[in-house]
Amino acid sequence: MSDCCSAPGLLPFEDALENMLSQITPVTETLTLPITQVLNTVLAQDITSPLNVPNHDNSAMDGYAFAIDSLSQGHTLTMVGRSMAGAPFQGECKLGECIRIMTGAKMPACCDSVEMQENVQAEADRITILKGKELKGKKLGSHVRKAGEDIQLGQHVLAQGQQLSAVDIGILASLGVSEVKVFRKIKVALIATGDELKLPGQALNAGDIYESNSFVLRAMLDKLHIDVIDLGIIEDDFEAIKAAFVSADSQADAVISSGGVSVGDADYTKTVLDDLGEIGFWKIAMKPGKPFAFGKLPNSIFFGLPGNPVSALVTFHQLAMVALTKMQNAQVLKRTTLQVKCGHDLKKSPGRMDFQRGVLSINEAGENVVESTGSQGSGILSSLARANCFIVLASKQGKVQAGEMVSVQLFDRFIC
Ligand code: AMP
Ligand code: MG
Repeated sequence: MSDCCSAPGLLPFEDALENMLSQITPVTETLTLPITQVLNTVLAQDITSPLNVPNHDNSAMDGYAFAIDSLSQGHTLTMVGRSMAGAPFQGECKLGECIRIMTGAKMPACCDSVEMQENVQAEADRITILKGKELKGKKLGSHVRKAGEDIQLGQHVLAQGQQLSAVDIGILASLGVSEVKVFRKIKVALIATGDELKLPGQALNAGDIYESNSFVLRAMLDKLHIDVIDLGIIEDDFEAIKAAFVSADSQADAVISSGGVSVGDADYTKTVLDDLGEIGFWKIAMKPGKPFAFGKLPNSIFFGLPGNPVSALVTFHQLAMVALTKMQNAQVLKRTTLQVKCGHDLKKSPGRMDFQRGVLSINEAGENVVESTGSQGSGILSSLARANCFIVLASKQGKVQAGEMVSVQLFDRFIC
């Protein structure tokens, strides 16, 4: 791996991403789990439907089933049986006859249409379909749900690599699938470096701050369905950091540290990594998040995020998370990007790709407009909480004037 630090200038964001992804090997181990345990897991097989959903033509209403041709002889029909959900009518229903039918019940073989009970007057076994607007529009197949109208037998329903959602699990159940093959969960070890860091709940001494990066990362990793091994806060000390990295490497598929990747006196990440593994120590042409380390430890992949909370989150979301989803064997993340009008001038110098925090809204004219959350300092985590998108400005772009179109990337479920 080349040491990008020595390269003149900054590494373009796209190159960093591509370089990183080229070095990620997806997991191959699979396991079979009941569908009650697969939320957010990555599917390791394609799913083809073993049946039609619904499996039979059935009624969409509580009412009466009949053959539409019966109506040419009048609107009074004789009821000759019942079809209930789970207890279908087994007999014959001739022209001029009808079957009492409930929502979801199988359509009798000789019937093709249903009238809802609200439009029917029933007296003993005689029913009359009331004339009116509904009757004029009465069509063959009214209120009948056709077999296979949701999913057809043999249809390709879910693909390997899909991260299973609640809806996907419902679909699997509706196909009668009780267990599926998924890729094993990957494990990420988290390390926060910094002498100034204290855990929430502890007292702060002069100059201390509360550690927040590992909490943000853990929450995002949870949503990605990745196991977290938290190694806690490690002091700015070469031996302590080295010991933490060795421990993390022995337990996890990937190690993520935050802090200590700059070039200050207490920034040991690079020296420890030079000692332990193969390291690309990058200055990426992105803002926030210029310093970022990526590399290989003996048994795992390493991501070194900047310490500033906004930089840590943005580099995790835009770079490390993409690599981790590849490692999980999940489909490539789709990021929803829109071109919208910018509500006011934006500061921007050419040279780095900006991920400014934005608020996308609809103005009085009904147009989408994006505005900055204000100060873009890389330590201002609260500005991310106010935002609902990134305003993504290309590296070569200079300042933006009010009314210009800009690209926004909507926050996905991993940030919100
Ligand atoms: P560093 O990259 O270690 O120089 O840290 C840059 C800035 O981020 C400093 O102001 C640190 O105090 C802050 N910082 C580093 N790690 C964390 C963390 N885990 N949580 C919150 N702030 C942090
Ligand atoms: Mg530090």
